[in-house]
Amino acid sequence: MEIFEPFKEAIEEINQAGGERTKLCFQCGKCDSVCPWNRVRNFSMRRLIREANFGLSEIEKDDIWLCTTCGKCPQRCPRDVRQIEDTVAVRRIANVYNVFSDTAKPIKTVSSGLKTEGNPFGEERSKRYAWAEGLNLKKFEEGMEYLFFTDCYLCYDPRMKKVAKMTVNILNSSGIEYGILGEMENCCGESIRKTGNEELFKKLAKENIKNFIDRGVQKIIVSSPHCLYTFKNEYSQFKVNFEVIHIVELLYKLILEGKLKFNGSLKKKVVYHDPCYLGRHSGIYDEPRELLKSIPGLTLLEMEEEREESLCCGMGGGRVWMETHKNERFSNIRIEQAINAGAEILVTACPYCITNFEDTRVVLGLEDKIEIRDITEIIAEVAFV
Ligand code: SF4
Ligand code: SF4
Repeated sequence: MEIFEPFKEAIEEINQAGGERTKLCFQCGKCDSVCPWNRVRNFSMRRLIREANFGLSEIEKDDIWLCTTCGKCPQRCPRDVRQIEDTVAVRRIANVYNVFSDTAKPIKTVSSGLKTEGNPFGEERSKRYAWAEGLNLKKFEEGMEYLFFTDCYLCYDPRMKKVAKMTVNILNSSGIEYGILGEMENCCGESIRKTGNEELFKKLAKENIKNFIDRGVQKIIVSSPHCLYTFKNEYSQFKVNFEVIHIVELLYKLILEGKLKFNGSLKKKVVYHDPCYLGRHSGIYDEPRELLKSIPGLTLLEMEEEREESLCCGMGGGRVWMETHKNERFSNIRIEQAINAGAEILVTACPYCITNFEDTRVVLGLEDKIEIRDITEIIAEVAFV
């Protein structure tokens, strides 16, 4: 068993990540009571905080890789301990010592894809915009209003490519002036940073920032809440400040301005799942709901654990690349909640959530019970009848 005791570097790393607050932990256990892991298996953030506090983190154990950075326990902690920052600090130490549990081992392959091709799948950089063939997307030029930063999942994942195309259809019809970076675009780096690979995050971020600045980008449209979060909150460490807007915010704005109108209707019962990085981490709860409510015929229902209480799908914090046992997926619970609420469609606005829910729906054999849709797909369906 590899325990670092009392490990100077570990304590320093954790202190730099806000460890002073860790010392305030009085082991009340509220973090454990709200953590979604404890609905599917045993996991104690309280214990991890205690160990980290003394520099005694057991970096070879799976536990250090479990936190999805969903943001639920920081919201409840009476002592304002920074559980996410501390977890990432411990993962940084594991990276330094190249210690990855079996569950976390895929991160190594993902890292090498990110290093060489700028995406976690290791797909060729030159094919990043292959999905857009025939769509006549323009390269971003100085003076254009927006850069559309498409995200790795939308560029390479077969399911998410459909969402990318729908987004482009909507942007084109709304008259917005926008361009793309094309193959120069890198992954935003948010998730790899949460796995503790700070060096790789910096490389990806610096290259993106250089491309943004060289081309005079000021405003960025994103489809992924993870890109939104990192551009807004983490790229600022490089002393840059871009105006970043998530597609749901933009679509809502377009509706209010009368630039996006619906020709059709959708007579379906729908629930909206708040992605952690759009909801808890970015405070965007109303826009997607207002958008859905504006669709003729659509009935918006609410399921348990909505808005600030939203149940994480399980893919944040780099978990998207790690193995999760099929009986331990939070998404199992989430899909059941959506069905119990009477929904025919589970709508969300994050590529990780969509990918995960689609997979879970198949694993649980619920294809006939519920559909999974990105909000742009729903909007496009009623806008372009
Ligand atoms: S909720 Fe905060 S104070 Fe309570 S055990 Fe967790 S980290 Fe410590
Ligand atoms: S951030 Fe979320 S997943 Fe991580 S320990 Fe807290 S409640 Fe659990």
